[in-house]
Parts: sequence; C-alpha cells; structure tokens
Amino acid sequence: MQTRVLDRSELETAAELILAGQLVAFPTETVYGLGASVFHEEAIESIFRVKGRPSDNPLIVHVHSLEQVKEVAREIPPLFYQLAEAFWPGPLTCILKRNSSVPSLVSAGLDSVAVRMPSHKTALELILRAQVPLVGPSANLSGKPSPTSVEHVLEDFKGQIAAVVDGGESEFGIESTVISLLGGKPVILRPGSITQACLEKILGYSLEVEHAVTTGAVVSPGMKYRHYAPKCPIVLVDTMAQLLEQLRAQPQKGKRGSCMVLSHSALNLKSPGIQFHLLSAKTLYSLLRRSDAEGVQVLFVLCDQQMQADEALMNRLMKAASPVV
Ligand code: AMP
Ligand code: MG
Repeated sequence: MQTRVLDRSELETAAELILAGQLVAFPTETVYGLGASVFHEEAIESIFRVKGRPSDNPLIVHVHSLEQVKEVAREIPPLFYQLAEAFWPGPLTCILKRNSSVPSLVSAGLDSVAVRMPSHKTALELILRAQVPLVGPSANLSGKPSPTSVEHVLEDFKGQIAAVVDGGESEFGIESTVISLLGGKPVILRPGSITQACLEKILGYSLEVEHAVTTGAVVSPGMKYRHYAPKCPIVLVDTMAQLLEQLRAQPQKGKRGSCMVLSHSALNLKSPGIQFHLLSAKTLYSLLRRSDAEGVQVLFVLCDQQMQADEALMNRLMKAASPVV
C-alpha cells in the first residue's frame, strides 16, 4: 500500500478514505493520531493490528462538538460540561459511560469510553467532514515514542496506512490529560498538559491521581505498559553530581555519539562523545526518536527540581525508563 501525504486542502479525500474503512493519521495539538471511524469495526481491528497495540488498551474517541459526545456516551454528568467549558477544545480526555452504539472493541471491552475534542483546526475539520467521531490513538507502533511530525508517522507506518495529513509539528508534543468522570469524584488517570492544578482551580477541590496498576482492577489499562521508549536504556538522575559520576563511568566514553544527555536548561559541559540537548514536553519524543536513528547507546536525563515539577513530562520519562511489563 502506498501511504499518501495529504495537506489541509485534501481533507475531503482523507474523510472518504476513513469512511471506506482505511486508516488515516491526522495532526492534533498533542501528538499525531491514527484515525478511523469509531463505528467501523474492521478499521478499529486494523488499528490494533497495525500498531501492535494490546487489545486491552482502549482508544480515545475524538469529537468536533459537544453534541457529538452524545453519540458515543450516555448519562453524561454535569461535571463533564463544566470541564468541557473550561478546557475544550483542548488536551483533556474525559472517561464517560459508553453508549452501546460504540463497538466494545474501541473501549477494550470496558463499559466506559474516552472522549476528547481536539483544538487543532485540521483535526476538527476532518472530524466534521467525516461526520462521525474518530478514534485516534497515537500514530506510533505500540511502545515506541509518540509521533509529533509527519516524518515520525511515516517512520512507523509507511506502506501500512492509507494516508497521513500534514499539520506540521505538534504544538504540545505530549498526550492529553485523562480524567475519569465515572465515580462521584473525578480521578486523573494520566497527567498531561492540563495540569492537576488547572483542573483543581476549575473544580474548586483537590483531585486524586491514579497511579498505574493499583491493587485489583486496572483503571486505565494503557498506563500499565512500557511506553514511549527508545531502543537504548534511559537513566534518570536528580543532580549534576550524579550525572557527572554516571558520565565518568561510561565504558564508551569518548566514542562518538554513544551517549546523549537531556536537560531542562543548558549545561556547561563539553565532551567529544556526548551530545547535549534541551528537553521539554515539545521536544521529548523527537529526541527519543533521534537517539534511535543515531544509534545512541545510553541516554541520561537530568531531572532537576524544575523538571520534576512537570508531572506530564516526568510521567512519560519514567515510563520510557521503566523495565518492560
Ligand atoms: P493513546 O491513545 O495511545 O494516547 O492512549 C490512550 C490512553 O487513554 C491509554 O492510557 C488508555 O488506557 C486510556 N483510556 C482510553 N479509554 C479509556 C477508558 N475507557 N477508561 C480508562 N482509560 C482509558
Ligand atoms: Mg499512545
């Protein structure tokens, strides 16, 4: 299959491909999503197959209006409308009760559904043209860093999907915040650019954060898997002293390009074998992909206090650095 790269003037074609059951990657303000109609079961199956996504990891449904939420969810609580008013369109995904018209495969058999309205104009226009909500898991092979550009999508899916719509580089570069509205009190299931503090400010009370796999049932299945990982090991260090100690101990010291160091602010260090890069939510995934492309053998991240305060970035770094589940 030839993967077409479409631009914003070709969204009608993209919508037609989707309605015919094809997969089309599209830009959002978080990362690129792999799009299919929420109601097309075969296309949903091919999303899991092409991504190599475990079948117990549910997909996020993207809508272009509040009206469209009713097509996929039922018994929508007032709390949802309060959050949507404050944060939609934008990087906030709400877990609601699933409408039976949504194939259970979309939600990996759960009775709930994850819904989000993206703010990216191209994403909104594509959903509008398709006239159906679109599932849009990150358009990367399962386990690999998420895509923040067309090139990243093609790296993983060239020849495997019908098309990708070019929307330039993703604005945030990190996935949406996921919040469950199923119980009385909302629970944050995945940190993202909309922070706990932003949500608490609107709600007026403090929130709980679900930490991956707890005892009993897994609340958000996707959180238990290793994610976002480059090929080489990642080592997180808290202080400059620890970083220097680690660098000194490197057996490949001096070998060109064998080591990459990421930090929040510029480091006054130079060493022939080591590349230094500035890290932010926006640059994280492209740097992880770059370390793969350049055959980096070990990646160090200096997680100073400022970086540790960034809950979304730290969540992704810890998952990327964690052992395979
Ligand atoms: P991705 O689309 O790759 O960014 O991953 C979607 C994330 O949303 C995963 O962490 C899923 O576990 C989570 N998610 C999707 N649907 C649900 C749901 N119905 N209940 C809980 N978490 C969900
Ligand atoms: Mg993903």
